[in-house]
Amino acid sequence: MDIIRDVSAMKAFARNAAAEAKSIGLVPTMGFLHEGHISLVRTARKVSEVVVVSIFVNPTQFGEREDLDSYPRDEKRDLDILEKEGVDVVFCPVPDEVYSKGHVTFVEVGGISDKLCGGSRPGHFRGVATVVLKLFNIIRPDKAFFGLKDYQQQLVIRRMVTDLDLDVEILSLPTVREDSGLALSSRNSYLDENERLAAEVIPSAFTEARRLFAEGERSSGKIIEKMKKIMDSEPLVVLDYLRLCNKETLVDLDEVEEGRSILAIALRIGETRLIDNTEL
Ligand code: AMP
Repeated sequence: MDIIRDVSAMKAFARNAAAEAKSIGLVPTMGFLHEGHISLVRTARKVSEVVVVSIFVNPTQFGEREDLDSYPRDEKRDLDILEKEGVDVVFCPVPDEVYSKGHVTFVEVGGISDKLCGGSRPGHFRGVATVVLKLFNIIRPDKAFFGLKDYQQQLVIRRMVTDLDLDVEILSLPTVREDSGLALSSRNSYLDENERLAAEVIPSAFTEARRLFAEGERSSGKIIEKMKKIMDSEPLVVLDYLRLCNKETLVDLDEVEEGRSILAIALRIGETRLIDNTEL
């Protein structure tokens, strides 16, 4: 497995792969890998000749008071995991090279970037779209793999790919969860035992929503009200948003549209911000 830290070396590798007509699959990550990341890597491995995983904690997608400095990192462990998964290249650039002095160009994906997490994290998706476009330009992947755990993120990337005529296929893969139903996330490592238990209100609320839906409830107000009751029962939880929206436009819905609706949630437990979603 090659570990590449220079942008120019990564570009040279990608050029060689293209010259040999080898397809490249890219899995962009911020590291501190878990089974959610690994499921993306395994799918990439199955459908690409060359698998590149990037590990980069992207400063431009963090707000000023967010956890850029404390974001969990363990490069050695990540590299061991990726080696075992048969990854060809891990691209671990340093921030100063990705954003060289004087960097002023950013990608704004209008509309959907302002909704849900865009409201609570202004500029977040601008940072995400910018770094992903840079990774696409450096690595030139044929396919790129994203998790549905970050539902809005993969929508933003898909929109960017369409709008900017990028030659890459986006694959969005299911959320990997603990047995409790809690979605795996690098940020779960911030939670102590009580906080982790408290976080299980998220899968509980989703279960309640699905139960109501199965019973025929279609009013988003009623579904959200019942879900909020479950959230309120957990004193450690501070809700950021809970929305039932159209899964393409992220516009709020009054009524569930079967197969076209997504329930999206963001909350804080202590200093930790967690997000999750489920389709209805
Ligand atoms: P991150 O390192 O958190 O930026 O995530 C890198 C990629 O892994 C993103 O496409 C995420 O959506 C995806 N991912 C994170 N958590 C999960 C999960 N629990 N299941 C599936 N994919 C995930």
